[in-house]
Amino acid sequence: MIDREKIEQAVRLMLEGIGEDTEREGLRNTPARIARMCEELYGGMDEDAGVHLSRMFSAQSSDMVIEKDITFYSMCEHHILPFYGKAHIAYIPDGKVVGLSKLARTVEVFARRLQLQEQLTGQIADALMEHMKPKGVLVMIEAEHMCMTMRGIKKPGSQTVTLAKRGAFQTDPALEERFFRMLGRS
Ligand code: ZN
Repeated sequence: MIDREKIEQAVRLMLEGIGEDTEREGLRNTPARIARMCEELYGGMDEDAGVHLSRMFSAQSSDMVIEKDITFYSMCEHHILPFYGKAHIAYIPDGKVVGLSKLARTVEVFARRLQLQEQLTGQIADALMEHMKPKGVLVMIEAEHMCMTMRGIKKPGSQTVTLAKRGAFQTDPALEERFFRMLGRS
């Protein structure tokens, strides 16, 4: 659970720390505003991906399913700055499929926390394996990190790409090739 009071105190201290006047008009409501915003940005911490992935449908086909270009926003846990981009998910069903919107919901559950991109990618793949029990899962994330583009090495537009493979995708390279073809990247 989000403790709004603690966040407000912390934001007030940080503003003082950078030499600001916390009582000036533009900043007076900022601590409360940030505390409310945190409930949205970090709301995934109280959520369980299993809730979204428990409703499955029977399917005869075991053809690869791809949901691409799922837009997400997350916060880098090293700098508490946003990173955002697209997630692409592929899975090979084993008799059951899930509603496509549930894949996007699963991305949200893990994105709305303090994260590292590699960890986010792996957590989505693991949740799909655990709750859907498919033959294999591949998750690819392409993201821009504000901690790289507005500070530090300052390379606007540079993308970090991460990939997590589970099950059949780990053992059959042809599946991964097919994923990239279906994504239009080969
Ligand atoms: Zn960072």
